[in-house]
Amino acid sequence: MARVLITSALPYINGIKHLGNLVGSQLPADLYARYMRNRGHEVMFICATDEHGTPAELAAAKTGEPVADYCARMHAEQSELAKGFRLSFDHYGRSSSERNHRLTQHFAGRLAQNGFIEEVTEKQVFSHADNRFLPDRYIEGTCPNCGYERARGDQCENCTKQLDPTDLINPRSAISGSTDLEVRETKHLYLRQSALKDEIDAWIDSQTDWPILTTSIAKKWLHDGDGLKDRGITRDLFWGVPVRKGDQDWPGMEGKVFYVWFDAPIEYIAATAEWADANGLSDEAWQRWWRKDKGAEDVRYVQFMGKDNVPFHTLSFPATIMGSREPWKLVDYIKSFNYLNYDGGQFSTSQGRGVFMDDALSLLPADYWRWWLLSHAPENSDSEFNWENFQTSVNKDLADVLGNFVSRITKFCRSKFGEALPEGGETGERAAALIEELETRTRAYEAHMEAMEIRKAATELRAIWVAGNEYLQSAAPWTVHKTDPERAAAMVRLGLNLVRLYAILSEPFIPDASAKMLDAMKVEDRSWPGPIAEALTALKPGHAFETPEVLFAKIADEDREDWAKRFAGVRA
Ligand SMILES: [Zn+2]
Repeated sequence: MARVLITSALPYINGIKHLGNLVGSQLPADLYARYMRNRGHEVMFICATDEHGTPAELAAAKTGEPVADYCARMHAEQSELAKGFRLSFDHYGRSSSERNHRLTQHFAGRLAQNGFIEEVTEKQVFSHADNRFLPDRYIEGTCPNCGYERARGDQCENCTKQLDPTDLINPRSAISGSTDLEVRETKHLYLRQSALKDEIDAWIDSQTDWPILTTSIAKKWLHDGDGLKDRGITRDLFWGVPVRKGDQDWPGMEGKVFYVWFDAPIEYIAATAEWADANGLSDEAWQRWWRKDKGAEDVRYVQFMGKDNVPFHTLSFPATIMGSREPWKLVDYIKSFNYLNYDGGQFSTSQGRGVFMDDALSLLPADYWRWWLLSHAPENSDSEFNWENFQTSVNKDLADVLGNFVSRITKFCRSKFGEALPEGGETGERAAALIEELETRTRAYEAHMEAMEIRKAATELRAIWVAGNEYLQSAAPWTVHKTDPERAAAMVRLGLNLVRLYAILSEPFIPDASAKMLDAMKVEDRSWPGPIAEALTALKPGHAFETPEVLFAKIADEDREDWAKRFAGVRA
């Protein structure tokens, strides 16, 4: 038995996430966590809402709530949706927690002690009307290059020229529109990533099993241009972790907070501490997952994230951990994803284009989405959601193949033998061939799940379902029953054991349907199958079951057309 620590990239607090966000980190992380638990490993699965930064402040200002209230409300909403999708986090924390405040300040203090923090005085735009410094992207004005009137302080989106806010003609605050701006001096802390560059480089080189998508992104940031740059880790904002050096004040940094990207990954650790607190456990309980001097030496740590998050997880967060010179656990494997697009374009939160997590659950149960999203995960390239494909996949894989198999075999047994496994008879060569095929396929499925090859795992699982259907079709117990009821009984027994096997193997993908199948079959022993021949005799003659209700309803053409229209974009 191994110990596996799994973290999903933290969803940002300002709004409901869309299906592309879901399949880019939380959902595949859940698949892996469920699988590892089912294999008997000890799993700690952590996620949290990422709550700091300017977008949270602005979203709260829009709704008129204090930012802390806004975050508390949105955390509760996201938490409910996570439950709706059956994301099996051991803890769903909040980066605004007291734990994260203290731990973030602790890391900053250690980094300063070890010479990895530099204090830099820079010029920044202050808005009197907003009573705050403005981040570059919150300053608008006319582009000096092309004359576009709504250029942002970091870049003109019309001509793509990179800009400094001071380049803009007639600059104004993007928040209030005020032109009462002033360039002021302000001091910030920089994490000296450049001083840790060789250490990070060597560490990445030692990760020989990482996917190319992950290492190529990290290497690009390490070596392109001038190489890894130092990074500002503080901001002039109100909402965030106040800048402190451990538990001490930080002279000259009063009123400033850490940059959201500095404190967010630290929340992986803090959320595990929150988990211990929530369960009335001591610090040792969470430290054994994170401190190599306190038991985490044998933990395997896997992170899941979209490709845009890779630089922070391969460079900045490791720099924070290494620079602390404390024995914190570094990540062992990063599973990163490309993007899921929506019906010929991109998901857009601002235009309401695409299906969001709340919409999805209002249309169909979680398993339908889980199956489609995971079996089409954007692993090696971007992938695309479209309604025809979704309808086909649900109707074929879930309803026609798996659902139909379960329904046929249980109903046939009920009508000919009653709701208990029948006795007697022998299955023939066809069954032997099926068992051999399932043995090979199940072991291949395990290997793909172990390697987090999600599409390949889904393909294998589908083939496992198909094999049972084909067996039933060709063995035809309904015909055999007319001349040889004993032989038909043996086939039915095998078929009902297949229902149990399918439920166990499918649990990480479709946990609700799996539970329905296992409950209907009244299965006590839900342990992962060893040899398939043995697993298919787990339910003995005389074992009672209940014929389950329809597992998966088909998606009708009218619904598909209706939904495609409804989510095409520009919702209020
Ligand atoms: Zn321009």
